[in-house]
Amino acid sequence: MSSIKSIAIIGGTHGNELTGVHIIQSLKKRHENPVFDTFNFTYVIANPTAVEQNTRFIDVDLNRQFSVENLASLDTTLVELNIAKLLNQQFGPKQDSKTDLVIDIHNTTSAMGATLILLEDSPFYRNMGGYLKAHMPSANILLEDEIAYLEHPYLCTIGQHGIMLELGAQPQGVSRMDILLACEEMLDHILTYCDLYNQNTLPEIPEFTAYRLLDVVKFPLDEANEVAGLVHENMLDRDYERVKIGDPIFRMFDGTEVLLTGEQAIYPHFINEAAYKNSKVAFATALKFKW
Ligand SMILES: [Zn+2]
Repeated sequence: MSSIKSIAIIGGTHGNELTGVHIIQSLKKRHENPVFDTFNFTYVIANPTAVEQNTRFIDVDLNRQFSVENLASLDTTLVELNIAKLLNQQFGPKQDSKTDLVIDIHNTTSAMGATLILLEDSPFYRNMGGYLKAHMPSANILLEDEIAYLEHPYLCTIGQHGIMLELGAQPQGVSRMDILLACEEMLDHILTYCDLYNQNTLPEIPEFTAYRLLDVVKFPLDEANEVAGLVHENMLDRDYERVKIGDPIFRMFDGTEVLLTGEQAIYPHFINEAAYKNSKVAFATALKFKW
């Protein structure tokens, strides 16, 4: 079992998601940071220019620049691609990383509560999810393993291991104390988990409920490619709640409803996420499973 000796905590990957920024600021201000015997941790605000300008990014989405191809690209014209290469030098490099775990903190405008996003189905991640769920039952565990860990373009994948904390609902550019407290609680449990993991003193982690990413659903469009309806009123602020076949998922501007079709009930999340508006994504879907 390889241990987790170095952890990097990242905030401000998206400049208008402020919880991670406050986490880093408070770590900097504290005279004494939480002490763990079995690992060192460091922290950084990934995109300070975007934070200053209160915008998600300057040129391109930083959290989509960490594919192996992008990190090898010779293009030096994009602010975020340049940041990605620097972070990859500092904490990576991806595929052969000096950092054992990268924790990247995000906010969502959706009512997803405290969500831990894991990118791989392995005992280390499975037990982390179960440990968090056992100590913070309100947390949601979301597994996005539709592609291999290293194929994801996310910042956290420059670590040997990488996870994302996704907290909401919080509007872009807004700082809510309840959300910050939830993030601190999550972080605390995750660091404690790593400490126990390193000492090989983890308790048995019982089966727990988690969600596995299935798909993204776009808004219905008209012939002119304009949005022709909105997420149904029954689904609003109800991320991770079951929607079964025949339940309405959209209401069109003419008043008619679009019902869920297919073979199975879904668990929508990222419902109405503001950052996905431009790509016309209405929500993501997941299946619920025992992990
Ligand atoms: Zn984000």
